[in-house]
Amino acid sequence: MADKPEGRGPAEIEAARKLFAGPCEFVAGAASIASLPAAGLPEIAFAGRSNVGKSSLVNALTGRNSLARVSSKPGHTRQVNFFDLGNRLFLVDLPGYGFAQVSKSMKETWQDLASAYLRGRPTLKRVCLLIDSRHGVKEADRETMKNLDAAAVSYQLVLTKTDQLKEAEIACAVAAAETVARKHGAAHPQALPTSSLTGAGIPELRAEIIGTAGLQARS
Ligand code: GDP
Repeated sequence: MADKPEGRGPAEIEAARKLFAGPCEFVAGAASIASLPAAGLPEIAFAGRSNVGKSSLVNALTGRNSLARVSSKPGHTRQVNFFDLGNRLFLVDLPGYGFAQVSKSMKETWQDLASAYLRGRPTLKRVCLLIDSRHGVKEADRETMKNLDAAAVSYQLVLTKTDQLKEAEIACAVAAAETVARKHGAAHPQALPTSSLTGAGIPELRAEIIGTAGLQARS
């Protein structure tokens, strides 16, 4: 019983806060399929178009400024990065996609690596698919959603940069994302609005992550 579409309660939010406030270490950066670390702990992966705010979100979740590298150059992260959260969970930062200025061969290498990871990971509990709340679901995101559906990998849309929108616009962005999600078999029906800048939605996303990973509060 890991899944609750209606969101997470105060107990899970507090348990998640504690877990994410604890140790978090970079454990591996895999640039090839052969160098992916052996599966062990439950994993939650983060995917999205380059520049969507993925590194910033991983940093906001873990309360660190520089765990994941925030880049001014889109398309910078070229490997699958694994972070060990309290020896209970791996956070997995996948390479950004949809950046037009990389060569075709490089694009293919990234896609092959991300696909191999996504298809062959029994411990992967969910992919957080990041969507820029200002732009909504783009063609490259739809492609990724189709691939995740085909691979039967559970995923959830997470809206980023909501500090750039007004309250009513955020509600519209969430509703639009949820409309798209409902058309995809492997997508969670709820979209989560977040801002790494203000911290809005971060406690709720942490709670969603530990709930999805099947982690209980430790007293
Ligand atoms: P990545 O390529 O997906 O890892 O994206 P980054 O985390 O490197 O962020 C890309 C750009 O978006 C940077 O200029 C960040 O400062 C900016 N950014 C990331 N998150 C937020 C956010 O929550 N709000 C705002 N306003 N900007 C953000």
